[in-house]
Amino acid sequence: MSQLPQELLRDLQGIRGFDGDALQAAHQLPAVTSARLNPYKPSGVFATAEPVPWCATGRYLVERPSFTLDPLFHAGAYYVQEASSMFLHHMVHTLLPERDNLRVLDLCAAPGGKSTLLASLLGKSSLLISNEVIRPRASILEENMTRWGYTNTWVTSNDPRDFSGLPGYFDLMVVDAPCSGSGLFRKDERALGEWSEANVLLCAQRQQRILADAWPALKEGGILIYATCSYSPQEDEEILDWLSEDFSAEPLSVPLPEEWGIVATYSGKAGFTGYRFSPDKVKGEGFFIAALRKTSETDALRPAKFRSAHDKKIYAQASHLLQARDFACLKMGDEYNMIYPEHEADIAILQKAVYLRRIGTPLGQPTAKEWLPAHDIALSIERSENIPSISLDKDQALRFLKKEEVAMPMVEKGWHLVCYDGHSLGWVKSLGNRFNNYLPKHWRIRMDIRELEG
Ligand code: SAM
Repeated sequence: MSQLPQELLRDLQGIRGFDGDALQAAHQLPAVTSARLNPYKPSGVFATAEPVPWCATGRYLVERPSFTLDPLFHAGAYYVQEASSMFLHHMVHTLLPERDNLRVLDLCAAPGGKSTLLASLLGKSSLLISNEVIRPRASILEENMTRWGYTNTWVTSNDPRDFSGLPGYFDLMVVDAPCSGSGLFRKDERALGEWSEANVLLCAQRQQRILADAWPALKEGGILIYATCSYSPQEDEEILDWLSEDFSAEPLSVPLPEEWGIVATYSGKAGFTGYRFSPDKVKGEGFFIAALRKTSETDALRPAKFRSAHDKKIYAQASHLLQARDFACLKMGDEYNMIYPEHEADIAILQKAVYLRRIGTPLGQPTAKEWLPAHDIALSIERSENIPSISLDKDQALRFLKKEEVAMPMVEKGWHLVCYDGHSLGWVKSLGNRFNNYLPKHWRIRMDIRELEG
Protein backbone atom coordinates (compact mmCIF):
# COMPACT_ATOMS: atom_id res chain seq x y z
CA MET A 1 0.00 0.00 0.00
CA SER A 2 1.16 3.58 -0.66
CA GLN A 3 2.48 5.78 2.10
CA LEU A 4 0.08 7.33 4.62
CA PRO A 5 -0.52 11.06 3.98
CA GLN A 6 2.20 13.23 5.57
CA GLU A 7 -0.42 15.70 6.85
CA LEU A 8 -2.19 12.88 8.70
CA LEU A 9 1.05 11.66 10.28
CA ARG A 10 1.85 15.25 11.29
CA ASP A 11 -1.54 15.65 13.00
CA LEU A 12 -0.96 12.45 14.95
CA GLN A 13 2.35 13.61 16.45
CA GLY A 14 1.96 13.79 20.21
CA ILE A 15 -1.15 11.56 20.32
CA ARG A 16 -0.73 8.96 23.04
CA GLY A 17 0.62 5.68 21.65
CA PHE A 18 1.30 7.06 18.14
CA ASP A 19 4.22 5.38 16.37
CA GLY A 20 4.44 6.55 12.75
CA ASP A 21 6.83 3.82 11.53
CA ALA A 22 4.83 1.03 13.15
CA LEU A 23 1.55 2.42 11.76
CA GLN A 24 3.08 2.69 8.29
CA ALA A 25 4.38 -0.89 8.55
CA ALA A 26 0.97 -2.18 9.67
CA HIS A 27 -0.48 -0.61 6.52
CA GLN A 28 1.64 -2.94 4.40
CA LEU A 29 -0.27 -5.91 5.89
CA PRO A 30 -3.77 -7.02 4.87
CA ALA A 31 -6.85 -6.02 6.85
CA VAL A 32 -8.13 -8.40 9.51
CA THR A 33 -11.39 -10.27 8.77
CA SER A 34 -13.91 -10.85 11.54
CA ALA A 35 -17.56 -11.64 12.10
CA ARG A 36 -20.01 -11.48 14.99
CA LEU A 37 -22.41 -14.31 15.84
CA ASN A 38 -26.13 -13.84 16.35
CA PRO A 39 -26.86 -15.16 19.87
CA TYR A 40 -30.49 -15.91 18.93
CA LYS A 41 -29.45 -17.97 15.89
CA PRO A 42 -26.84 -20.36 17.27
CA SER A 43 -24.94 -22.46 14.73
CA GLY A 44 -21.61 -24.23 14.47
CA VAL A 45 -20.22 -21.54 12.18
CA PHE A 46 -16.65 -20.36 13.00
CA ALA A 47 -16.64 -22.82 15.93
CA THR A 48 -12.84 -23.01 16.11
CA ALA A 49 -12.15 -19.35 15.26
CA GLU A 50 -10.21 -17.13 17.67
CA PRO A 51 -12.53 -14.95 19.78
CA VAL A 52 -12.33 -11.14 19.66
CA PRO A 53 -11.27 -10.34 23.25
CA TRP A 54 -13.63 -7.38 23.78
CA CYS A 55 -16.76 -8.94 22.29
CA ALA A 56 -18.10 -12.31 23.46
CA THR A 57 -19.71 -13.05 20.08
CA GLY A 58 -16.85 -11.70 17.90
CA ARG A 59 -14.61 -14.09 15.93
CA TYR A 60 -11.45 -13.55 13.87
CA LEU A 61 -11.44 -15.42 10.57
CA VAL A 62 -8.16 -16.70 9.15
CA GLU A 63 -9.27 -15.94 5.62
CA ARG A 64 -12.06 -14.02 3.96
CA PRO A 65 -14.53 -16.57 2.61
CA SER A 66 -17.23 -15.60 0.10
CA PHE A 67 -19.97 -14.69 2.57
CA THR A 68 -22.43 -14.39 -0.32
CA LEU A 69 -22.00 -18.10 -0.91
CA ASP A 70 -22.73 -19.04 2.70
CA PRO A 71 -26.45 -19.64 3.34
CA LEU A 72 -25.86 -19.05 7.08
CA PHE A 73 -24.89 -15.47 6.28
CA HIS A 74 -28.25 -15.01 4.50
CA ALA A 75 -30.03 -16.63 7.45
CA GLY A 76 -28.59 -13.95 9.78
CA ALA A 77 -26.54 -16.41 11.84
CA TYR A 78 -23.65 -13.88 11.80
CA TYR A 79 -22.75 -10.39 10.64
CA VAL A 80 -19.42 -9.52 9.04
CA GLN A 81 -18.00 -6.72 11.16
CA GLU A 82 -14.63 -5.12 11.67
CA ALA A 83 -13.15 -6.29 15.01
CA SER A 84 -12.15 -2.92 16.53
CA SER A 85 -15.67 -1.55 16.19
CA MET A 86 -16.96 -4.52 18.23
CA PHE A 87 -15.51 -2.69 21.25
CA LEU A 88 -18.98 -1.13 21.47
CA HIS A 89 -19.98 -4.46 23.04
CA HIS A 90 -17.49 -3.99 25.89
CA MET A 91 -18.60 -0.40 26.44
CA VAL A 92 -22.33 -1.09 26.54
CA HIS A 93 -21.85 -4.22 28.61
CA THR A 94 -19.79 -2.32 31.17
CA LEU A 95 -21.61 1.02 31.27
CA LEU A 96 -25.14 -0.42 31.17
CA PRO A 97 -25.17 -3.65 33.20
CA GLU A 98 -29.01 -3.55 33.20
CA ARG A 99 -30.30 -3.46 29.66
CA ASP A 100 -34.07 -3.80 30.03
CA ASN A 101 -36.65 -1.08 29.32
CA LEU A 102 -34.11 1.16 27.60
CA ARG A 103 -34.74 3.42 24.64
CA VAL A 104 -31.68 3.37 22.38
CA LEU A 105 -30.87 5.32 19.23
CA ASP A 106 -28.27 4.31 16.65
CA LEU A 107 -28.26 7.57 14.72
CA CYS A 108 -25.95 6.76 11.78
CA ALA A 109 -26.76 3.10 11.45
CA ALA A 110 -26.28 1.78 7.89
CA PRO A 111 -25.28 -0.85 7.01
CA GLY A 112 -26.11 -2.11 10.50
CA GLY A 113 -22.94 -3.31 12.24
CA LYS A 114 -23.49 -1.34 15.46
CA SER A 115 -27.27 -1.86 15.36
CA THR A 116 -27.05 -5.66 15.12
CA LEU A 117 -24.50 -5.56 17.96
CA LEU A 118 -26.70 -3.32 20.13
CA ALA A 119 -29.80 -5.41 19.40
CA SER A 120 -28.02 -8.54 20.61
CA LEU A 121 -27.11 -6.84 23.88
CA LEU A 122 -30.51 -5.37 24.73
CA GLY A 123 -33.32 -7.12 26.57
CA LYS A 124 -36.52 -7.59 24.55
CA SER A 125 -38.26 -4.93 26.66
CA SER A 126 -35.79 -2.34 25.32
CA LEU A 127 -36.38 -0.63 21.99
CA LEU A 128 -33.65 0.20 19.47
CA ILE A 129 -34.25 2.87 16.86
CA SER A 130 -31.88 2.26 14.02
CA ASN A 131 -31.68 5.38 11.84
CA GLU A 132 -30.04 6.10 8.50
CA VAL A 133 -30.63 9.41 6.74
CA ILE A 134 -29.53 8.32 3.25
CA ARG A 135 -32.47 6.46 1.70
CA PRO A 136 -30.68 3.78 -0.36
CA ARG A 137 -28.47 3.03 2.64
CA ALA A 138 -31.59 2.81 4.83
CA SER A 139 -32.80 -0.02 2.54
CA ILE A 140 -29.56 -1.92 3.13
CA LEU A 141 -29.90 -1.31 6.85
CA GLU A 142 -33.47 -2.61 6.81
CA GLU A 143 -32.40 -5.74 4.94
CA ASN A 144 -29.61 -6.45 7.43
CA MET A 145 -31.90 -5.87 10.41
CA THR A 146 -34.50 -8.20 8.85
CA ARG A 147 -31.84 -10.88 8.53
CA TRP A 148 -30.81 -10.38 12.16
CA GLY A 149 -34.45 -11.07 13.02
CA TYR A 150 -35.28 -9.00 16.12
CA THR A 151 -38.67 -7.44 16.82
CA ASN A 152 -37.48 -4.66 19.14
CA THR A 153 -35.36 -3.01 16.43
CA TRP A 154 -37.23 -0.42 14.41
CA VAL A 155 -35.85 1.46 11.42
CA THR A 156 -36.19 5.18 10.70
CA SER A 157 -34.72 7.30 7.93
CA ASN A 158 -34.42 10.82 9.25
CA ASP A 159 -32.04 13.72 9.37
CA PRO A 160 -30.43 13.96 12.84
CA ARG A 161 -32.17 17.31 13.36
CA ASP A 162 -35.58 15.56 13.41
CA PHE A 163 -34.61 13.77 16.61
CA SER A 164 -34.55 17.09 18.48
CA GLY A 165 -38.35 16.65 18.46
CA LEU A 166 -37.91 13.81 20.99
CA PRO A 167 -36.46 15.64 24.00
CA GLY A 168 -35.01 13.41 26.72
CA TYR A 169 -36.37 10.24 25.11
CA PHE A 170 -33.26 8.08 24.74
CA ASP A 171 -31.22 6.39 27.50
CA LEU A 172 -28.39 5.59 25.11
CA MET A 173 -27.43 7.20 21.85
CA VAL A 174 -24.74 5.86 19.53
CA VAL A 175 -23.32 8.28 16.96
CA ASP A 176 -21.00 6.34 14.65
CA ALA A 177 -20.38 9.43 12.59
CA PRO A 178 -19.58 9.73 8.89
CA CYS A 179 -15.86 10.51 8.82
CA SER A 180 -12.77 10.83 6.62
CA GLY A 181 -12.23 7.06 6.95
CA SER A 182 -8.44 6.86 7.47
CA GLY A 183 -8.89 3.94 9.89
CA LEU A 184 -10.14 1.81 7.01
CA PHE A 185 -7.31 2.46 4.53
CA ARG A 186 -6.30 -1.23 4.69
CA LYS A 187 -9.81 -2.32 3.73
CA ASP A 188 -10.28 0.25 0.98
CA GLU A 189 -7.19 1.73 -0.62
CA ARG A 190 -9.36 4.13 -2.64
CA ALA A 191 -10.10 5.97 0.62
CA LEU A 192 -6.36 6.73 0.84
CA GLY A 193 -6.43 8.42 -2.57
CA GLU A 194 -9.50 10.43 -1.61
CA TRP A 195 -8.16 11.57 1.79
CA SER A 196 -7.52 15.30 2.24
CA GLU A 197 -7.05 17.74 5.10
CA ALA A 198 -9.97 19.75 3.76
CA ASN A 199 -12.23 16.70 4.01
CA VAL A 200 -11.13 16.06 7.60
CA LEU A 201 -12.29 19.58 8.48
CA LEU A 202 -15.57 19.17 6.61
CA CYS A 203 -16.17 15.89 8.42
CA ALA A 204 -15.41 17.49 11.81
CA GLN A 205 -17.95 20.25 11.11
CA ARG A 206 -20.56 17.71 10.05
CA GLN A 207 -19.87 15.62 13.18
CA GLN A 208 -20.50 18.69 15.35
CA ARG A 209 -23.73 19.44 13.51
CA ILE A 210 -24.97 15.85 13.91
CA LEU A 211 -24.14 15.77 17.62
CA ALA A 212 -25.70 19.18 18.30
CA ASP A 213 -28.87 18.12 16.50
CA ALA A 214 -29.23 14.83 18.33
CA TRP A 215 -28.13 15.94 21.83
CA PRO A 216 -31.58 17.17 23.04
CA ALA A 217 -33.03 13.68 22.46
CA LEU A 218 -30.71 12.23 25.11
CA LYS A 219 -32.10 11.92 28.63
CA GLU A 220 -30.46 13.61 31.59
CA GLY A 221 -28.08 10.92 32.88
CA GLY A 222 -28.23 9.21 29.49
CA ILE A 223 -25.12 7.97 27.70
CA LEU A 224 -23.73 9.16 24.37
CA ILE A 225 -21.28 6.87 22.61
CA TYR A 226 -19.39 8.66 19.85
CA ALA A 227 -17.27 6.75 17.34
CA THR A 228 -15.38 7.28 14.08
CA CYS A 229 -13.10 5.20 11.89
CA SER A 230 -10.74 8.16 11.49
CA TYR A 231 -7.29 8.63 13.06
CA SER A 232 -7.54 12.42 12.82
CA PRO A 233 -7.68 14.13 16.23
CA GLN A 234 -9.89 16.83 14.65
CA GLU A 235 -12.62 14.18 14.35
CA ASP A 236 -11.86 12.41 17.62
CA GLU A 237 -10.38 14.09 20.73
CA GLU A 238 -11.16 17.60 19.45
CA ILE A 239 -14.83 16.64 19.08
CA LEU A 240 -14.79 15.54 22.73
CA ASP A 241 -13.34 18.94 23.70
CA TRP A 242 -16.02 20.68 21.66
CA LEU A 243 -18.72 18.61 23.38
CA SER A 244 -17.26 19.44 26.79
CA GLU A 245 -17.41 23.16 26.01
CA ASP A 246 -20.85 23.41 24.47
CA PHE A 247 -22.78 20.69 26.33
CA SER A 248 -22.91 19.56 29.93
CA ALA A 249 -21.42 16.10 30.07
CA GLU A 250 -18.99 14.02 32.05
CA PRO A 251 -16.56 11.53 30.51
CA LEU A 252 -16.99 7.81 31.10
CA SER A 253 -14.30 5.17 31.03
CA VAL A 254 -14.24 1.39 30.92
CA PRO A 255 -11.69 -1.16 32.18
CA LEU A 256 -9.02 -1.89 29.59
CA PRO A 257 -6.72 -4.93 29.90
CA GLU A 258 -3.29 -3.88 28.64
CA GLU A 259 -2.91 -6.94 26.40
CA TRP A 260 -5.76 -5.73 24.18
CA GLY A 261 -3.42 -3.06 22.79
CA ILE A 262 -6.12 -0.37 22.83
CA VAL A 263 -4.83 3.06 23.88
CA ALA A 264 -6.83 5.36 26.16
CA THR A 265 -6.32 8.98 25.08
CA TYR A 266 -7.37 12.22 26.77
CA SER A 267 -8.70 15.23 24.93
CA GLY A 268 -6.31 18.20 25.05
CA LYS A 269 -8.53 20.74 26.84
CA ALA A 270 -11.12 18.86 28.91
CA GLY A 271 -9.16 15.62 29.40
CA PHE A 272 -12.17 13.53 28.27
CA THR A 273 -11.32 9.85 27.70
CA GLY A 274 -11.37 8.24 24.27
CA TYR A 275 -10.14 4.86 23.02
CA ARG A 276 -7.86 4.56 20.00
CA PHE A 277 -7.46 1.42 17.93
CA SER A 278 -4.43 1.29 15.71
CA PRO A 279 -3.55 -1.75 13.54
CA ASP A 280 0.06 -1.70 14.74
CA LYS A 281 -1.24 -2.43 18.27
CA VAL A 282 -4.58 -4.23 17.97
CA LYS A 283 -5.84 -7.07 15.81
CA GLY A 284 -8.27 -4.83 13.96
CA GLU A 285 -8.51 -1.63 11.92
CA GLY A 286 -8.29 2.03 12.94
CA PHE A 287 -11.13 3.16 15.18
CA PHE A 288 -11.95 5.73 17.87
CA ILE A 289 -14.71 5.53 20.49
CA ALA A 290 -15.68 7.50 23.58
CA ALA A 291 -18.59 7.60 26.03
CA LEU A 292 -20.08 10.57 27.89
CA ARG A 293 -22.90 10.99 30.36
CA LYS A 294 -25.28 13.90 29.87
CA THR A 295 -25.47 15.95 33.03
CA SER A 296 -27.64 18.87 31.94
CA GLU A 297 -31.27 19.05 32.94
CA THR A 298 -33.53 17.90 30.12
CA ASP A 299 -37.31 18.01 30.08
CA ALA A 300 -38.31 14.49 29.22
CA LEU A 301 -41.22 13.71 26.91
CA ARG A 302 -44.28 12.43 28.71
CA PRO A 303 -45.78 9.24 27.33
CA ALA A 304 -48.74 10.15 25.13
CA LYS A 305 -52.15 8.61 25.83
CA PHE A 306 -53.04 6.06 23.20
CA ARG A 307 -55.66 3.48 22.37
CA SER A 308 -54.23 0.14 21.39
CA ALA A 309 -54.63 -0.61 17.69
CA HIS A 310 -53.97 -4.32 18.25
CA ASP A 311 -56.18 -6.25 15.82
CA LYS A 312 -57.18 -9.41 17.69
CA LYS A 313 -59.10 -10.92 14.78
CA ILE A 314 -56.22 -10.58 12.35
CA TYR A 315 -53.76 -11.70 15.00
CA ALA A 316 -55.72 -14.93 15.41
CA GLN A 317 -55.23 -15.60 11.69
CA ALA A 318 -51.48 -15.02 11.86
CA SER A 319 -50.64 -16.43 15.28
CA HIS A 320 -49.65 -19.83 13.80
CA LEU A 321 -46.52 -18.03 12.55
CA LEU A 322 -45.43 -16.90 16.00
CA GLN A 323 -44.09 -18.29 19.23
CA ALA A 324 -46.46 -18.34 22.17
CA ARG A 325 -46.06 -14.91 23.76
CA ASP A 326 -47.98 -11.66 23.58
CA PHE A 327 -47.62 -9.49 20.53
CA ALA A 328 -49.55 -6.51 19.29
CA CYS A 329 -50.63 -6.88 15.66
CA LEU A 330 -50.93 -3.55 13.86
CA LYS A 331 -51.98 -2.56 10.36
CA MET A 332 -49.17 -0.90 8.38
CA GLY A 333 -50.37 -0.05 4.86
CA ASP A 334 -51.61 -3.29 3.27
CA GLU A 335 -49.65 -5.46 5.67
CA TYR A 336 -49.68 -6.25 9.37
CA ASN A 337 -46.68 -5.96 11.65
CA MET A 338 -46.21 -7.40 15.10
CA ILE A 339 -44.46 -5.60 17.91
CA TYR A 340 -43.98 -6.28 21.59
CA PRO A 341 -47.07 -4.79 23.32
CA GLU A 342 -44.94 -2.70 25.69
CA HIS A 343 -43.67 -0.68 22.71
CA GLU A 344 -47.03 0.38 21.31
CA ALA A 345 -47.03 3.64 23.29
CA ASP A 346 -43.72 4.55 21.65
CA ILE A 347 -45.28 4.69 18.19
CA ALA A 348 -47.27 7.83 18.93
CA ILE A 349 -44.28 9.52 20.57
CA LEU A 350 -41.86 8.71 17.77
CA GLN A 351 -44.27 9.47 14.93
CA LYS A 352 -44.53 13.08 16.02
CA ALA A 353 -40.88 13.59 15.11
CA VAL A 354 -39.66 10.88 12.76
CA TYR A 355 -40.81 8.63 9.94
CA LEU A 356 -41.14 5.04 11.12
CA ARG A 357 -39.94 3.11 8.11
CA ARG A 358 -40.32 -0.24 9.80
CA ILE A 359 -41.71 -1.20 13.20
CA GLY A 360 -41.36 -4.66 14.72
CA THR A 361 -41.63 -7.56 12.32
CA PRO A 362 -43.87 -7.58 9.24
CA LEU A 363 -46.20 -10.59 9.36
CA GLY A 364 -47.75 -10.34 5.92
CA GLN A 365 -51.42 -10.05 5.04
CA PRO A 366 -54.63 -12.05 4.84
CA THR A 367 -56.02 -12.93 1.41
CA ALA A 368 -59.45 -14.39 0.67
CA LYS A 369 -58.14 -17.95 1.21
CA GLU A 370 -55.06 -17.85 3.41
CA TRP A 371 -52.40 -15.83 5.17
CA LEU A 372 -49.71 -14.53 2.80
CA PRO A 373 -46.60 -14.53 5.03
CA ALA A 374 -43.97 -11.78 4.85
CA HIS A 375 -40.35 -12.75 4.22
CA ASP A 376 -39.44 -11.02 7.50
CA ILE A 377 -41.25 -13.53 9.67
CA ALA A 378 -39.27 -16.36 8.07
CA LEU A 379 -36.10 -14.74 9.46
CA SER A 380 -37.58 -13.70 12.80
CA ILE A 381 -36.31 -14.97 16.14
CA GLU A 382 -40.00 -14.95 17.23
CA ARG A 383 -41.11 -17.35 14.53
CA SER A 384 -43.04 -20.46 15.62
CA GLU A 385 -41.06 -23.71 15.72
CA ASN A 386 -44.10 -25.57 14.38
CA ILE A 387 -44.16 -24.22 10.83
CA PRO A 388 -43.58 -27.02 8.30
CA SER A 389 -40.08 -26.78 6.88
CA ILE A 390 -37.87 -28.38 4.26
CA SER A 391 -34.15 -28.90 4.90
CA LEU A 392 -31.90 -27.99 2.00
CA ASP A 393 -28.28 -28.86 1.33
CA LYS A 394 -25.87 -26.06 0.46
CA ASP A 395 -26.33 -26.28 -3.29
CA GLN A 396 -30.14 -26.28 -2.97
CA ALA A 397 -30.00 -23.39 -0.50
CA LEU A 398 -27.88 -21.28 -2.87
CA ARG A 399 -30.25 -22.06 -5.75
CA PHE A 400 -33.19 -20.96 -3.59
CA LEU A 401 -31.29 -17.75 -2.75
CA LYS A 402 -30.64 -17.18 -6.47
CA LYS A 403 -34.33 -17.79 -7.20
CA GLU A 404 -33.36 -20.64 -9.50
CA GLU A 405 -35.23 -23.93 -9.88
CA VAL A 406 -34.52 -26.12 -6.82
CA ALA A 407 -34.94 -29.88 -7.02
CA MET A 408 -36.71 -30.77 -3.74
CA PRO A 409 -38.85 -33.74 -2.70
CA MET A 410 -42.54 -32.93 -3.09
CA VAL A 411 -44.33 -32.17 0.16
CA GLU A 412 -47.89 -31.41 1.17
CA LYS A 413 -49.50 -28.41 -0.54
CA GLY A 414 -49.08 -25.09 1.27
CA TRP A 415 -46.49 -22.83 2.86
CA HIS A 416 -43.14 -24.21 3.97
CA LEU A 417 -40.00 -22.64 5.31
CA VAL A 418 -36.79 -23.66 3.58
CA CYS A 419 -33.94 -24.17 6.03
CA TYR A 420 -30.22 -24.68 5.85
CA ASP A 421 -28.45 -26.20 8.86
CA GLY A 422 -31.57 -25.54 10.94
CA HIS A 423 -31.84 -21.86 9.95
CA SER A 424 -34.69 -20.52 7.89
CA LEU A 425 -33.92 -18.73 4.61
CA GLY A 426 -37.44 -17.90 3.42
CA TRP A 427 -40.73 -19.26 2.15
CA VAL A 428 -41.77 -21.62 -0.60
CA LYS A 429 -45.31 -22.61 -1.45
CA SER A 430 -45.86 -26.17 -2.55
CA LEU A 431 -48.49 -26.55 -5.26
CA GLY A 432 -48.30 -30.35 -5.10
CA ASN A 433 -46.28 -30.75 -8.30
CA ARG A 434 -43.97 -27.74 -8.05
CA PHE A 435 -42.83 -24.98 -5.71
CA ASN A 436 -43.13 -21.22 -5.88
CA ASN A 437 -40.15 -19.38 -4.40
CA TYR A 438 -41.21 -16.38 -2.28
CA LEU A 439 -37.76 -14.87 -1.70
CA PRO A 440 -38.20 -11.13 -2.43
CA LYS A 441 -36.63 -10.33 -5.81
CA HIS A 442 -34.26 -7.71 -4.43
CA TRP A 443 -32.85 -10.25 -1.94
CA ARG A 444 -31.73 -12.56 -4.71
CA ILE A 445 -27.99 -13.45 -4.94
CA ARG A 446 -26.90 -11.90 -8.19
CA MET A 447 -23.45 -13.47 -8.63
CA ASP A 448 -22.93 -16.62 -10.66
CA ILE A 449 -22.47 -19.36 -8.08
CA ARG A 450 -20.69 -21.80 -10.44
CA GLU A 451 -18.27 -19.13 -11.62
CA LEU A 452 -17.37 -18.25 -8.06
CA GLU A 453 -17.02 -21.82 -6.97
CA GLY A 454 -14.57 -22.56 -9.79
N1 SAM B 1 -22.88 2.48 12.22
C1 SAM B 1 -22.69 1.86 10.94
C2 SAM B 1 -22.28 0.41 11.14
O1 SAM B 1 -21.72 0.08 12.19
O2 SAM B 1 -22.54 -0.40 10.24
C3 SAM B 1 -21.69 2.63 10.09
C4 SAM B 1 -22.03 4.07 9.97
S1 SAM B 1 -21.06 4.99 8.86
C5 SAM B 1 -19.60 5.19 9.74
C6 SAM B 1 -21.81 6.56 8.94
C7 SAM B 1 -23.23 6.62 8.41
O3 SAM B 1 -23.67 7.98 8.52
C8 SAM B 1 -23.35 6.27 6.94
O4 SAM B 1 -24.32 5.26 6.79
C9 SAM B 1 -23.82 7.55 6.27
O5 SAM B 1 -24.75 7.32 5.24
C10 SAM B 1 -24.48 8.31 7.43
N2 SAM B 1 -24.49 9.77 7.20
C11 SAM B 1 -23.93 10.48 6.18
N3 SAM B 1 -24.19 11.79 6.34
C12 SAM B 1 -24.93 11.92 7.46
C13 SAM B 1 -25.51 13.02 8.12
N4 SAM B 1 -25.36 14.26 7.67
N5 SAM B 1 -26.20 12.78 9.25
C14 SAM B 1 -26.33 11.52 9.72
N6 SAM B 1 -25.79 10.45 9.13
C15 SAM B 1 -25.10 10.63 8.02
